[in-house]
Amino acid sequence: QFPFGRRLPCDIYWHGVSFHDNDIFSGQVNKFPGMTEMVRKITLSRAVRTMQDLFPLEYNFYPRSWILPEEFPLFVAEVRMMKDSDPSWKPTFIVKPDGGCQGDGIYLIKDPSDIRLTGSIQSRPAVVQEYICKPLLVDKLKFDIRLYVLLKSLEPLEIYIAKDGLSRFCTEPYQEPTLKNLHQVFMHLTNYSLNIHSGNFIHSDNVNTGSKRTFSSILCRLSSRGADVKKLWSDIISLVIKTIIALTPELKVYYQSDIPAGKPGPTCFQILGFDILLMKNLKPMLLEVNANPSMRIEHEQELSPGVFENVPSPVDEEVKVAVIRDTLRLVDPQKKKRKDSHCIPFIFQIFFIQFHNLPDVRMKDKQHKHHSLKLSLKLKFYLKLGLCQTLEHVSEANEELLDAGPADRPEYDTTKSPEAGLPSLCLKQVFPKYAKQFNYLRLVDRVAALFIRFLGVKGTTKLGPTGFRTFIRNCKLSNSNFSMASVDILYIDITRRWNSMGIDHKESGMCLQAFVEAFFCLAQKKYKSLPLHEQVASLIHFCEYHLAALDEKRLVCGR
Ligand code: ADP
Repeated sequence: QFPFGRRLPCDIYWHGVSFHDNDIFSGQVNKFPGMTEMVRKITLSRAVRTMQDLFPLEYNFYPRSWILPEEFPLFVAEVRMMKDSDPSWKPTFIVKPDGGCQGDGIYLIKDPSDIRLTGSIQSRPAVVQEYICKPLLVDKLKFDIRLYVLLKSLEPLEIYIAKDGLSRFCTEPYQEPTLKNLHQVFMHLTNYSLNIHSGNFIHSDNVNTGSKRTFSSILCRLSSRGADVKKLWSDIISLVIKTIIALTPELKVYYQSDIPAGKPGPTCFQILGFDILLMKNLKPMLLEVNANPSMRIEHEQELSPGVFENVPSPVDEEVKVAVIRDTLRLVDPQKKKRKDSHCIPFIFQIFFIQFHNLPDVRMKDKQHKHHSLKLSLKLKFYLKLGLCQTLEHVSEANEELLDAGPADRPEYDTTKSPEAGLPSLCLKQVFPKYAKQFNYLRLVDRVAALFIRFLGVKGTTKLGPTGFRTFIRNCKLSNSNFSMASVDILYIDITRRWNSMGIDHKESGMCLQAFVEAFFCLAQKKYKSLPLHEQVASLIHFCEYHLAALDEKRLVCGR
């Protein structure tokens, strides 16, 4: 617990909702700045779309999506075109309000004209997405997978995936969407928070049955039916790495703004919840990413009408305790010290906090943003890593620190490594392990590095017109075909359009996505007739080359 007035820094800061502290100068924080914004439905769809433009085949794990209201005309036109070219195509679409969670406000439609444009879309932007009509069914039910992913570091990129996850089941047998069943949420939406209200919901006390099971139990079933489970895992790993590669460019912009390079600051890590749907042919499709996945290991049960009690949920406990324990093991600040000195068993204490009764909370308003670890402490877990594996639940009334020292644990052998008694890690590193296979996708990361270089004053996230001109000049991009006047027009046109989308009015100037669009434009002009990703790669190389030459010249002059 971080009490008001505490001066001493901590090793690890564990926030309930999002990164927001500007007064932390060391240690590690369990949230990245900007992550909550990045995984909102619209931002995620935009980031994935940029990657789809560059690498359409590699990014076909995300359903085709349009952003409302601004892309409504495009949505109508594209659907009409696809229907014209294939009259047998009878699509269904799912409309999801931006920033919504737990299935809130989601509905299915058969035709673009069914979108509820009046009122809600204007006041609440949304994503409309192709609905996956043929999901894999188990026991005739649709289900999705929640996988936990640890983004341990952004630079260098380090990603871990939990070996097991959760499978969340619908509670009505699935039928492909028809006008008659479109509104049946218990058939089409897998959200736990919705299905728990169905009379058919089964709370199970083992991990293989019921409406929430472990993903490994599903894999066992599939494997016994002869499915290629290894291939499925490798597709899932690839989906996770590619999604994070789509998110990193903008995360880096947020990061340098909140934690400028060269100034003391914390490092960040974050547990993300990936929601994945398996298609009938076992292809995993990304539904969404949660920046603040629920870590509850109990659920509410109605003992008698109107009387509820929290009871342990073995499935949640099986999966989530391991994720948190291993995250702490991986970010353990003492690890390095111990390695260096082979010393003393350590006692590692941390409080971590979840907002009570707010599973999967995503920041909906600024008020949430400013809730801090220092406030609203409701549910506390006290974890002593290295001393024992017990996770002791502390009641709200008892806010005292539990202190069970080694004396209370006679079985603890202090001569052994503190991790000796713990199970093997459930979090498996996938990046940089598979970096070689995926590094070619990291083009936008390099465009973001150029953008950050020209941001100038640290702490901003938008590029001014002078910064953009300097970028053009330093990278030797202006020539007789491309005058500085046309550079200014490009800047104004693209910046105005992005700013009119109402994403962030706090700062004026060009945001990263606008810069990426301008960069793609320049690449297409300069390297005609190549595929887009080659045009972009060539322009990046060109810019990096000229900037390196400039840096060298400056160094020599400096000497
Ligand atoms: P929320 O954040 O509100 O839970 P999701 O994007 O996770 O929104 O969607 C809610 C549920 O709707 C998912 O758990 C899934 O069952 C279903 N769903 C979402 N998108 C699709 C899709 N494109 N195709 C089929 N089902 C989908």
